[in-house]
Amino acid sequence: MIGQSAMNNLNDRKRVEAPDDFSLPRQFMPEERVAILLFFAVDKLYDYAVPAKMMLTVGDIVQVPFGHRTMYGVVWQQGQTDSALTRIKYITDILPLPSFRLPLLQFIKWVADYTLQPLGAVLQLVARDPSVLLGHSEEKVLSCEGNLPKKFAITQPRKRVLSSIAKGVFNSVTDLSEDANVSASVITSMIKCGVIKIEHTAIKDLFETPDTGRRHLILEKEQAIAAKALCELLKTKFSVSLLEGVTGSGKTEVYFEPLAAALDEGKQVLVLVPEITLTIQWFNRFRERFGCVPAIWHSNLSKKTRKQTWLAIANGDARVVIGARSALFLPYANLGLIIVDEEHDSSFKQEDGVIYNARDMSVVRGRAESASVVLVSATPSLETLTNVASGKYKHSILKQRVGTSVLPKIALIDMLKNPPIRGDWGKSWLSPPLVSSIDEALAHGDQSLLFLNRRGYAPLTLCAQCGYRVECNNCSAWLVQHGAARYLQCHHCGSKSSPLLECPSCNAKETMVACGPGIERIAEEVKARWPEANIVIADSESLSKDQAVRQLVEKISSGATDIIIGTQILAKGHHFPNLTLVGVIDADIGLSSWDLRASERTHQLLHQVSGRAGREEKAGSVLIQTREVQNPVMQSLVMLDSRSFVELEKQSRQILKMPPFGRLVSIIVSGKKEESVVKVVNDLSHISPIIAGVEFLGPAPAFISMLRGKYRYRLLVRGPQNYLLQNDIRRWVGKIVVPSSVKIQIDVDPYNFY
Ligand code: ADP
Ligand code: ZN
Repeated sequence: MIGQSAMNNLNDRKRVEAPDDFSLPRQFMPEERVAILLFFAVDKLYDYAVPAKMMLTVGDIVQVPFGHRTMYGVVWQQGQTDSALTRIKYITDILPLPSFRLPLLQFIKWVADYTLQPLGAVLQLVARDPSVLLGHSEEKVLSCEGNLPKKFAITQPRKRVLSSIAKGVFNSVTDLSEDANVSASVITSMIKCGVIKIEHTAIKDLFETPDTGRRHLILEKEQAIAAKALCELLKTKFSVSLLEGVTGSGKTEVYFEPLAAALDEGKQVLVLVPEITLTIQWFNRFRERFGCVPAIWHSNLSKKTRKQTWLAIANGDARVVIGARSALFLPYANLGLIIVDEEHDSSFKQEDGVIYNARDMSVVRGRAESASVVLVSATPSLETLTNVASGKYKHSILKQRVGTSVLPKIALIDMLKNPPIRGDWGKSWLSPPLVSSIDEALAHGDQSLLFLNRRGYAPLTLCAQCGYRVECNNCSAWLVQHGAARYLQCHHCGSKSSPLLECPSCNAKETMVACGPGIERIAEEVKARWPEANIVIADSESLSKDQAVRQLVEKISSGATDIIIGTQILAKGHHFPNLTLVGVIDADIGLSSWDLRASERTHQLLHQVSGRAGREEKAGSVLIQTREVQNPVMQSLVMLDSRSFVELEKQSRQILKMPPFGRLVSIIVSGKKEESVVKVVNDLSHISPIIAGVEFLGPAPAFISMLRGKYRYRLLVRGPQNYLLQNDIRRWVGKIVVPSSVKIQIDVDPYNFY
């Protein structure tokens, strides 16, 4: 193993040069020296010699001896070693895997340079360990016999199995039983009586080819214009477009057109989404349009599915891939189109390990692959809108909802004038106007969604006697109350503790009180006010499994639910036909955080949530509870005027020279010993270079000054828009000697400032 400090320490870095010409695959002959990039988080290439009878090409995946171990790597370029001076080892094997294509190598190099991460760490985003991809080209597949035997009793669990198997491919009894939510014995009994068969199939046959010729929805005029423009762009070598359309304007159906066109040209398509578990309705639509399901990629795939999917993508058998941000790094055989749905969403930013923004890097990948990139949103990011304004990105707009549906009416409720009235259950968070609107919706048999972006019961617990606030032992953050048992949990490190019976500070008994609401507390009030109503809570805890999301979405769509209480997890993309009222409990939550995008994010989120209302014939209304009625975010929502908000936000960023009108790089220094952290951050600050137009802000303790028991200090570098800071930062940080107990993390284009 190479030591931890070597990985962290930029000091060790010798820059890896790009091969002279990445566009020409270079063949190597026996006895030649080649430089190998190992699947390992370092920024170095290692030279090896090509043994007799081995023909190697750039991009081949090889096995090499490394110290006493065997390691794997990618053939990167010609070796640098002077062979007369060094004893050099031979490559031991070429792995029978598809070679990495040059656009992928180019992409890896570009990402490493831009994000200032070790080249090997970026390579590991493509495959952590290629040896697990070897072996078995055949898989077990469970399938259903068309005719059921006469004596076969169709119980509820069996019915679920049949409906699961009808919609996809399952490679094991476990996979199927998980999907159908039945015990494995239900399936084995079905195998015994011959209803389910086990076959062996080649991996490539596991991935169905989408049928682009199926009959589908007829696009409306605006949709058709946008779809045509996007299809035209596929003919150019590389392009980026923004598909901007109000909520419910049918953006998905629009981008299905260039998707189909790219497939017809024999290309692969990647669809990136913020949260894959939330895309159940998307899958249904895809199946209706293309007659099969696409390949799925995210971090929780089983080992086996992961391997199959990776290979099918590398071989070109998986034609459409839908995935979370990590799908951007897969070794596509022939990528023609990348779609980034909800491009404004901050979950495209990977925050640990290799820190990158998948939205931005998708443009880089598109360029490397000569593919088209389509960014999709109802509320595009300021970065994207700026690129549209400068002509770098093309633009298609959908101004109307499809069919007869119209955008909902939005009203603000001034909480200073309409304070909630306390009830028998205790404190209240719903204002009288919101309560009467819910009454009305219930009377009409319509659904309401109450939105609060805060998990748990209460965000803070304090002592009524001395004012002591309960904090996490490992983080500078308050503990959040959760669940009926009122346990306490830190939302930063996840640690849980039991409820406090006495105050740790003044020892008074039973004085600890919950402060402020989380969605569980809102649910308590709703149950007390409308005991007859059918209520569901939707947050990341209750929806951590695919199964749970599917059941919930089905339940809500069927109209069985009266009131939904949810966090942002339900705000995105869903289409619930009976939902007419959206109530935002506290619109001001996001505004107070110190974050340059606080207003922008609040605007996007509230816009998205509002967009869930009245998506079919029944008109929708949205009530937003706020204490800041005059805030431009709130005003733009009421006026249905995103443009004026965006203009205002643009001006303020321009004045402050903040992104996208300036560049930021954040440097976080962390460690268990505060003095060591302070020493490193001060040393760094003392030797910060002098560059015209570049400012070094800090050092200062980070907003969360302790996280998981580590002290954190921050330096922020701000530079002009037209100047890349990476080279200066690399040289500067590389001069510092860092003890192994201290970690320096570099975040280029930071989104989080905690
Ligand atoms: P958006 O993503 O823009 O909010 P969706 O793509 O979710 O909108 O579309 C909203 C609804 O309208 C979906 O149920 C979709 O199937 C339907 N839809 C979209 N385009 C059409 C069309 N041309 N004709 C009929 N229904 C459509
Ligand atoms: Zn914590």
